[in-house]
Amino acid sequence: MEAAGAYRFSIFLLFVFAAVVFIVLMFLTAPYGRHARPGWGFSLPEKRGRQIMESPAVIVIAACLFVGWDRGLTPSFVSALLLLFWEVHYIYRTIIFPSRMREGKKQFPALLVLFAIIFNTFNGFVNGYHLFLGHARYDLAWLLDPRFIFGTIVFVAGFATHVNSDRLLRALRAPGETGYSIPHGGMFRYVSSPNYLGEIIQWIGWAILTWSIAGLAFAAFSFANLFPRALANHRWYRRQFPGEYPEERKAIIPFLL
Ligand code: NDP
Repeated sequence: MEAAGAYRFSIFLLFVFAAVVFIVLMFLTAPYGRHARPGWGFSLPEKRGRQIMESPAVIVIAACLFVGWDRGLTPSFVSALLLLFWEVHYIYRTIIFPSRMREGKKQFPALLVLFAIIFNTFNGFVNGYHLFLGHARYDLAWLLDPRFIFGTIVFVAGFATHVNSDRLLRALRAPGETGYSIPHGGMFRYVSSPNYLGEIIQWIGWAILTWSIAGLAFAAFSFANLFPRALANHRWYRRQFPGEYPEERKAIIPFLL
């Protein structure tokens, strides 16, 4: 299949994948972290699993740049800048976030690692194709376009929200601890899973700042994956800390849900 056909097919698959994942996760919470349970087969040490499953997102999009370059499609300055936005997130998610996790003995199901590898490969490809192989040509004027400016503000706000929420969660445990307590501060004042909220906001920002169907597919998938889990986390906190958990706190949308 030629690259343009593979791109269109992958975009279609991502939207289908998002719809299926949303429906499945509304009924079945992914079995890792607080929702881990036996019966999901082979597993990997959690940190290693997270590093492996996020790596394709770092590599595939950058490979698209080099393939494009090899075909004479010199990347514009703005496309390279957008790649930097992406890589800052994924280097954080692949290297920094796992390396800062409190050392425990938790395992991560290999099946979920496999799903994430498949998703990150497709997603890296469609976003990389859009930036470096397709017809999108971002020239310097894009930096002053309201879509780029607004999208970048949304992207940075989302990134800051989930990184800060990750930090607050990490601070709940001393090294080696594996238990759970009620998080406070930052956007935890309003919702139980501000890390997921920040991540969804960030990729909506990406869809706006790249003004692309590839970005939209990723934002849709992030919502489909994280929204049901945020509802499950919220129910879990209420069950786990009856009478203690802040009444006014919502699951993922401040003041609403
Ligand atoms: P969680 O909030 O479940 O966990 C993050 C870390 O904090 C884990 O180490 C977890 O430990 C620990 N933790 C969570 N709650 C508590 C608590 N109450 N007390 C003490 N420690 C706690 O996030 P995920 O692991 O699901 O996701 C991690 C990041 O990856 C998030 O920022 C998320 O947005 C992002 N992500 C993005 C996806 C996407 O589709 N774009 C998909 C999935 C994740 P433990 O592992 O022991 O539970």
